[in-house]
Amino acid sequence: MNANGLTDPFGRRIEYVRVSVTDRCDLRCFYCMPRGFRDFEEPADWLTFDEIERVMAAFARLGTQRIRLTGGEPLVRKDLPVLARRLAALPGVNDISMSTNATRLARSANELVAAGVRRINVSLDSLKPEVFKQITGGKLEKVLDGLMAAKAAGFEPIKINMVMLGGINDDEVEDIVEFCLEHGFTLRFIETMPMGETGRKAIGSYVDLQTVKARLERRYELLPGVMPGGGPARYVQVAGSSLRIGFITPISQHFCATCNRVRLSVDGTIYTCLGNEHKLELRPRLRAGCSDADIEDAIREAIALKPERHEFKENPDKIIRFMSMTGG
Ligand code: SAM
Ligand code: SF4
Repeated sequence: MNANGLTDPFGRRIEYVRVSVTDRCDLRCFYCMPRGFRDFEEPADWLTFDEIERVMAAFARLGTQRIRLTGGEPLVRKDLPVLARRLAALPGVNDISMSTNATRLARSANELVAAGVRRINVSLDSLKPEVFKQITGGKLEKVLDGLMAAKAAGFEPIKINMVMLGGINDDEVEDIVEFCLEHGFTLRFIETMPMGETGRKAIGSYVDLQTVKARLERRYELLPGVMPGGGPARYVQVAGSSLRIGFITPISQHFCATCNRVRLSVDGTIYTCLGNEHKLELRPRLRAGCSDADIEDAIREAIALKPERHEFKENPDKIIRFMSMTGG
């Protein structure tokens, strides 16, 4: 453990950073980004690869070992494997992962693996083309192509993220379990969060994942307590298989007490909590010529702002920004 490590005011060690490389996306999942939305950050305000590398090097000196590339859709950012390679080479960093919608994964899967991205999470909310289109506005086929390319390229594990939406995709719980069994993917169900206008509307389709778990228990024998990965998912394993199923339950059972992460957005803001506005804007300092030691001080300052927990349940109107702006 790094003696200079980051500990927040509630005693949580912060050793994981999710880096949003763009707020843009080629899909419009209705719970995430409004249809027709185009009010994106200007390219001049995006952190450059040099700036991202510099900030992440500072995080790494302060004990960060794990970095996840996310967005928006990270593969919309040009030359992402180049950035991945640079981050993977930072001393102290031993885990580079990515969250993606996989529409563009088929063309870059091999390059990403070669750059050092080992683990990926892929959003897949439906296996029915028309329902997939209704939720995301995009084509299921492209995502499945991306997933198969990822499997061939050797990412391990590949985790499927499915946001559970009542009356929309909740009839596909067993289908997605069978799909993951067939392909050797890990599966995670996610509860909708009231992030921005879009997230709040989707709360109308909220499903308590305890009910999904109970439903799966009627069909499969689920073994508890596998894969404690420091992340928010609580996992079970399907007996007689290697399939792990995680439940990400920000609403029905929040997991803030074990939170180990912060987020860096594309405009260089450190967000210390998905469900709060506590943040530190790093870009002005970077562009005013601050030193590496100043960046470390700014990171410590940000971590000191980290609140105890989100209030998605008690105070759902609090967060105006939607998920793709922060980096999910
Ligand atoms: N575009 C990539 C993707 O979809 O995986 C990465 C970014 S996306 C914002 C990261 C994750 O956030 C996805 O799994 C998505 O389903 C989830 N997400 C977005 N808005 C959400 C919301 N309001 N509630 C719950 N999950 C949400
Ligand atoms: Fe894009 Fe991911 Fe948001 Fe869907 S969840 S709109 S794929 S950023």
